[in-house]
Amino acid sequence: MKKITILGSTGSIGTQTLDIVRNNPNSLSVIAISAGNNIELLEKQIREFKPKYAAVRNEEAARILKTKTADLPVKILSGMDGLIEISTLPEIEMAVTALVGMIGIRPTIAAIKAGKDIALANKETLVTAGHIIMPLVKAHNVRLLPVDSEHSAIFQSKGAENPESIAKILLTASGGPFRGKLTDELIKITKEDALRHPNWSMGRKITIDSATLVNKGLEVIEAKWLFELSADKITVVIHPQSIIHSMVEYIDGSIIAQLGTPDMKLPIQYALFYPHRMPLNEKRVDFCELSSLTFEPPDTATFKGLPLAYEALAKGGSMPTVYNAANEKAVSLFLQDKISFLAIYDLIEGAMNNHKPIGAPTVEHILETEMETYEYITKNITH
Ligand code: NDP
Repeated sequence: MKKITILGSTGSIGTQTLDIVRNNPNSLSVIAISAGNNIELLEKQIREFKPKYAAVRNEEAARILKTKTADLPVKILSGMDGLIEISTLPEIEMAVTALVGMIGIRPTIAAIKAGKDIALANKETLVTAGHIIMPLVKAHNVRLLPVDSEHSAIFQSKGAENPESIAKILLTASGGPFRGKLTDELIKITKEDALRHPNWSMGRKITIDSATLVNKGLEVIEAKWLFELSADKITVVIHPQSIIHSMVEYIDGSIIAQLGTPDMKLPIQYALFYPHRMPLNEKRVDFCELSSLTFEPPDTATFKGLPLAYEALAKGGSMPTVYNAANEKAVSLFLQDKISFLAIYDLIEGAMNNHKPIGAPTVEHILETEMETYEYITKNITH
């Protein structure tokens, strides 16, 4: 029985992780769960999965949840201390990091230091603090297993091959709902248009990130850390059908790909049970039904989220934090109808131009940079 903590159990990844637990009651046990504001769903999850601990964003939310669950033997925690406590419990073996944003950095570091394996969905942690996380993973001899479908695909295609045999990796991208559109056609995009992803059902922030291609940019940076590759060995290919989840090209020209239907349960389950595979009763790829698999280069002149990520990677240090934080703030403003779709790019670019990168930033530097970037965006809102 593998005992796990789920950080962000009420979100898109969190609820799908619980689906897998529900399907494997004799193999997985949830010791702790957490949420930000969605107390109603968290209470339902506590009643169904009976964790010993639940953590929420702040004391006020904790007070409400305590009242609602007074009949249950669950300990309610709050804030960053709560997230860290549930990530380091002696009885857990793995923490699933399904929080959205940089709030995931500290609990992930604490879990690694406590010797826990990590199933990592929270890509912002690696994007901003990869240089801190990856050495810790090695020093504490824990596993960091990717949940992101592209990184899971690379991980599965890479197998036990010698890293020196890898010529490059090919991250596939659906291209999002606006693939093929030019800048002029993106001027009047609404959040409803941007939230309509053609293939994947995900949280709101990552759905917007897929439309801007910032998500792919974040994945490029995530891949650099996970697979210890330089930027020139990470290529993005648009593949609208989202059947090939990513590929590894070897030095002899051989390419190994991982395929599947676009469903996050597969990579989540793979991370939870690695190195074992478990049955998963979901739709399968039927090659006789597939009419075609197509590929094209990304339009980096229109979808500037991708070239800006390569620029952040090249500048290094705290620049990926600025890229990520500026995007987080800009997406939140876009979701509140306060800025236009294209202003997301302008704000990220402006914040990056305004920043002097700090080399090898500490966690404190990263969080300071995040706050400075938020302030920059608030002062420079362009519509
Ligand atoms: P969601 O927005 O759906 O879920 C985020 C989760 O984090 C929710 O449970 C939310 O709680 C919780 N949360 C937010 N703030 C806090 C806080 N201050 N304290 C405690 N909990 C908090 O996001 P997704 O599931 O879509 O994404 C999670 C991560 O996984 C992101 O980094 C994303 O990039 C990555 N990812 C997601 C994929 C997907 O298919 N969704 C695919 C690949 C990667 P509440 O519900 O109460 O707000």
